[in-house]
Amino acid sequence: MPDPEAVQTMATVTRDPSPEALQNHLGFARRSYLSRMVGLALGFVMTAAVFIQNATPAWMWIGPALHCFVGPHVAWWLARRATNPREAERRNLLADHFLGGVWMALMQLNLLPSVLAVSLLSMDTMAGGGVSLVVRGLVLQALGIALGVVLFGLHIQLDAARWTVLACLPLLVCQPILISHIARKAIHRLKQQSLALEHQSQHDGLSGLYNRSHWEQLVRAEFARFRRQGQPAVLVMADLDHFKRINDLHGHAAGDQAICRFAAALNRVLRETDVCGRYGGEEFGVLLPMTSADAARDVLDRLRRDLHAQQLLDGALVTASFGVAELTADVPNVEAWLRLADQMLYRAKHRGRDCVVVLGEEGGATQPGALVPTFARSSYSTPALLTDPLRVSQLLTGLDISEAPFALFDPSDRLATANPAFLKLFAVPPDALNFRDIIRNSYLHQVGPRIATDDIEAWLRAADGKRRSQPQRNFLVDMVDGRWFHLFETSYSDGWLMLLLFETHPPAANVQPVAATVLG
Ligand code: GH3
Ligand code: MG
Ligand code: MG
Repeated sequence: MPDPEAVQTMATVTRDPSPEALQNHLGFARRSYLSRMVGLALGFVMTAAVFIQNATPAWMWIGPALHCFVGPHVAWWLARRATNPREAERRNLLADHFLGGVWMALMQLNLLPSVLAVSLLSMDTMAGGGVSLVVRGLVLQALGIALGVVLFGLHIQLDAARWTVLACLPLLVCQPILISHIARKAIHRLKQQSLALEHQSQHDGLSGLYNRSHWEQLVRAEFARFRRQGQPAVLVMADLDHFKRINDLHGHAAGDQAICRFAAALNRVLRETDVCGRYGGEEFGVLLPMTSADAARDVLDRLRRDLHAQQLLDGALVTASFGVAELTADVPNVEAWLRLADQMLYRAKHRGRDCVVVLGEEGGATQPGALVPTFARSSYSTPALLTDPLRVSQLLTGLDISEAPFALFDPSDRLATANPAFLKLFAVPPDALNFRDIIRNSYLHQVGPRIATDDIEAWLRAADGKRRSQPQRNFLVDMVDGRWFHLFETSYSDGWLMLLLFETHPPAANVQPVAATVLG
């Protein structure tokens, strides 16, 4: 017996010859096999009752008996060996109609069994192929009746004996229940399939987060809510830092794993009402409804700490940068809102990564607590203290030196991290974050250490030589603004360099300015 699911797939089978599709259609034939066995067996009980009522000769029983007891197995065999089992099953249904017509003539068109045969067979074809299959089935049934009349003569019997009526009851009761049961199961399966399809069309296969198009739809809905009700919302764009390097060093599979773990971190840290999507590659979008920019910053700082605590890759620290844009009345549309968050993300990257930049506060320095060199652990053996942002900030706070300018440079002299005090003291260019560029830029803007020379490049070369040759240095520096600092400089064997400055009183008048003499 067919089921409604087949109606849906009928149109696709000839176009879609994939093994999966064929398996689906064979499933349809398999379900038909069971119900055909039951239906035809009960149909034979009804037919036998009429034959007994009419004293039909024994040889005439052979055809219906073969159809009812051998037919289901032949139909199943035909469907299994067919390249298109669904089409084969449709042919089987039409054959049932035709043979049913012949047996109706053989039953002398006894009214009750004939009506039952027509209606139950039509139920099958309707479920299996819709109205057009029913029409074809009825035409074939009429042809079957015509052939039966030619073979066995025309008899019309309106009355049914009591036992004939009783013999019809099992078929009358069981077959509709069986058909409904199969249809219900098929509808349930269809519902599941459609839910799965809906899920697939809205989610990203790798991370399980919403995909870009669905996420953007939800952002649009939130934007409309803001326009209607003024409900606050914040948009966050996030991008994993130095991801190309992750792929290069650890392989693409590890990169994929990091993406999945980042998605898990989002789900762990954010609220259920927050809407996370994979925007593309290693870039993510987060919509925080009913949230202010300040609250968003807190949440994202929590997320950053989570990324440091639960590494995205075993043995390697993977960080992320975040751009945050709160929705305000002057944001004209969703595209502009997305662009704003994206611009903030771009600034976060320029600010040294692993930080949060909020629209309206982007002039500020690197976020406090961003005290960690990105991607340090996998490549270098920097002391654990320096790669753990919490421990560094705890240390600085514990010593009551959190206001002391602090910076850490990686082995290629790139500024890995710096606190706000350091960024205030030096002119840190956004595009070239290494030690030499910082000094060069500070010299240009007349901030930072007083450098009494006309040849900054020669000064830098000399300073570099000294710095590399002495693992630990501690000296006085006078600044352009007149302040004095003790500068503690530590070079680690793996190339990392830490700078820590403490403001101090000006030395006695006879002490020479040191930036020029000691540093240079
Ligand atoms: P930045 O800190 O500036 O973001 O540097 P980046 O190296 O992450 O630069 P960018 O964002 O431009 O590079 C994205 C890289 O992420 C490019 C691509 O190789 C990688 N990537 C994108 N999608 C996938 C993915 O699905 N799986 C993996 N493993 N890598 C991906
Ligand atoms: Mg990236
Ligand atoms: Mg990217």
